[in-house]
Amino acid sequence: MSDDVSAISPTSPSSETHDIDVAPESSQAPLRVQPRPLPKRFESDIDVPDIDLHMHSTASDGGMAPADLVALVARRGVSRMSLTDHDSMEGIFEAQQAAAALGVTLMPGCELSVRWRNQTIHIVALMPDGAGDALSAGLVQQHEARERRSHEIAARMEKIGLDNAMERAREQATLNGSGDRPLSRPDFARALVEAGLARNLQDAFKRHLGSGQKGDVKAHWPEMEEAVGWVRADGGVAVMAHPMRYKLTRTKRGELLRDFIAAGGEAAELVSGFQNIDRARDLARQLDELGMYASVGSDFHFPGGPLAPGSMSPPPRTKVPPVWCHPRLATFFDAPIATI
Ligand code: AMP
Ligand code: MN
Ligand code: MN
Ligand code: MN
Repeated sequence: MSDDVSAISPTSPSSETHDIDVAPESSQAPLRVQPRPLPKRFESDIDVPDIDLHMHSTASDGGMAPADLVALVARRGVSRMSLTDHDSMEGIFEAQQAAAALGVTLMPGCELSVRWRNQTIHIVALMPDGAGDALSAGLVQQHEARERRSHEIAARMEKIGLDNAMERAREQATLNGSGDRPLSRPDFARALVEAGLARNLQDAFKRHLGSGQKGDVKAHWPEMEEAVGWVRADGGVAVMAHPMRYKLTRTKRGELLRDFIAAGGEAAELVSGFQNIDRARDLARQLDELGMYASVGSDFHFPGGPLAPGSMSPPPRTKVPPVWCHPRLATFFDAPIATI
């Protein structure tokens, strides 16, 4: 899968991770971020809105601990965020504690790996009331699926010469912030680089772990319909993550989005990190035709790369309503309600 090619910086998490501290020790009052009002429409003159609804921490494959990430978010003047770790909400509690102290509004969330027509697709779940019974059970299932998948990936990587693949990937996970979470493909990618079997992360994905390669094991993920059901059952809004990053024609993307809507999906990421403005305009037209809400997110993983919390291309002007104006999310974000 090459969906997240731009999501990760080739650099390892820098020591910055540990130095981030919003309030200098000498300062008495903690620096609290000042929220700006959220717009009801994407105007051409709004730059990056004061919100970032897609980011990762060490609870999945990100490089920063949840509290450090929130501190960086606040320091960058972003006052509303969602933490959307892959198939996990383990970082939410820590992030919420930090967010409360810094005046950041934090929407509980996660990024679910699902199957659609035998492709891996990512769904961002925005959960104003947190995970209820349905998503909690779903996340247990995802955790198990990830465990099983990691053994299968390890077996396949051993075949191409990565001895003790499981242990090596675990070691990489530990070096990158957390040794006790389920493994993800970047852990195997780093192990391949470390063992001299790939030049860098990109190369490891291109040759061994990306779409269509040996290590792209996707059989364990639930069908898209099932996972969207968990989100809806618990009062959340399901957002199609980075719709332009899948290798799909416009027509196929339309089919994906229609199936997503039929399953209960309501929004898609109009902006994901840095992207081409013409393609974003085209996506906006498609979302408008389908009557969807639009979300924005950096898909930030690591400091030291091209992306940071709140850094993303400006959205194109469109009448598609922002997802923070969705009736189930607007109160949480203190935003105006817009119905489609
Ligand atoms: P997993 O959730 O275990 O399938 O791992 C997917 C993650 O791998 C994505 O969320 C990205 O963070 C990362 N990733 C995917 N493709 C690439 C790539 N080509 N180069 C670097 N990282 C990637
Ligand atoms: Mn990732
Ligand atoms: Mn993704
Ligand atoms: Mn992501």
